[in-house]
Amino acid sequence: MVAGPDVYICDRCINDAAGIVRSDIASYQSTVGSGRGSSRRGTAHRRLTPHESKCSLDEYVIGQERAKKALSVAVYNHYKRIDAEDYLHDYDEVELEKSNIMLIGPTGTGKTLLARTLARILDVPFSISDATALTEAGYVGEDVESILAHLLHAADFNVERAERGIIYIDEIDKVARKSDNASITRDVSGEGVQQALLKILEGTVAGVPPKGGRKHPEQSLINIDTSNILFICGGAFDGLEELIAHRMSTNSIGFLTHSQKKMDKKDPSIFKHVEPDDLLRFGLIPELIGRLPVIASLDGLSDEAMRSILTKPKNALIKQYQKLFAMDGIELIFDEDAIDIVVNRARNLGTGARGLRSVMEDTMLEVMFDIHAHPDVHSCRITAATVKLGEHPILEKRRASA
Ligand code: ADP
Repeated sequence: MVAGPDVYICDRCINDAAGIVRSDIASYQSTVGSGRGSSRRGTAHRRLTPHESKCSLDEYVIGQERAKKALSVAVYNHYKRIDAEDYLHDYDEVELEKSNIMLIGPTGTGKTLLARTLARILDVPFSISDATALTEAGYVGEDVESILAHLLHAADFNVERAERGIIYIDEIDKVARKSDNASITRDVSGEGVQQALLKILEGTVAGVPPKGGRKHPEQSLINIDTSNILFICGGAFDGLEELIAHRMSTNSIGFLTHSQKKMDKKDPSIFKHVEPDDLLRFGLIPELIGRLPVIASLDGLSDEAMRSILTKPKNALIKQYQKLFAMDGIELIFDEDAIDIVVNRARNLGTGARGLRSVMEDTMLEVMFDIHAHPDVHSCRITAATVKLGEHPILEKRRASA
């Protein structure tokens, strides 16, 4: 008998219990192994085909077809690469390289939303970090390892899950080299950060302070292998459109060839013509561009797209307000021309779809404040005048039951 504090277990029971645990593990591994989301270490992720990923993205993100396709294929290949060891034997000597992704597009067009939605449908840990907060190691600011600490948090400190997660690094354009001239002062928040990112983007084992930062020097580091983490870098790249338009409008001796047509830098889809050379001239270092081989561009949003963003996605803003009102037993209705005015006002803010939220908040504040003064209201109609002039919405009262 083996004695515990209050219990005893005999040698035969120990054997039986161990057998049960072994068979449970074996049956779990065989179900994971036979499914498409197999992985050798049992940290399963869903492997969706590019079509399936794109369909799921369509439910949340309006437009941006090119970016959705590029992301879906890149992610499919990424997880295929991770699972390659389970599948490929004829191509053992062929090593699949990592395909980190660069998302380029104006602000508020869905870059973060795309990355976040992707992580949600793949069911992998996801974190967002801001490149502007980073500095080269040893300087005031966050070390690049802190972005791995964020991912580790998102994975509930499960290192194996974190090692297959997705990290979105926002504002990557803000760490562009400040000037072409080699300066005597070090560019610790620009080029220095780009240099520091190289290693973790490519794949390294990094020591991550679990509490983040250098404020807890006593904490022991957790090693994270970044070779299977998918990095998505995004940025608005203000000014890049001029570089693209300039490159496309002139060839090396200043004449247009037949295939080149003059590009307007205001063209909403100008970013689709971006080439690594443009990013180089923008101030990214070639090594970083090389480690972000998939470049996906997002277009500026048309009025039609903005309308759809308000009404169509699963968690569209208008649906959110309708849910809030429905919880009070009130039906919320938006007139078509009211939606047009919301879109117009948001466009003037120049922050893409993000402006929609502020216009809606502004419009709905008064309505939501006043609505409780009318307990017998059962429907509330927002008209163009409500959005434009702040007039009262049209309220319909419940008929008193006989
Ligand atoms: P950024 O491109 O600056 O990262 P975000 O992805 O954070 O922009 O977008 C801000 C908000 O605008 C999102 O939370 C989302 O509600 C909305 N949005 C932006 N673009 C789209 C889109 N294409 N489809 C649906 N919603 C969008």
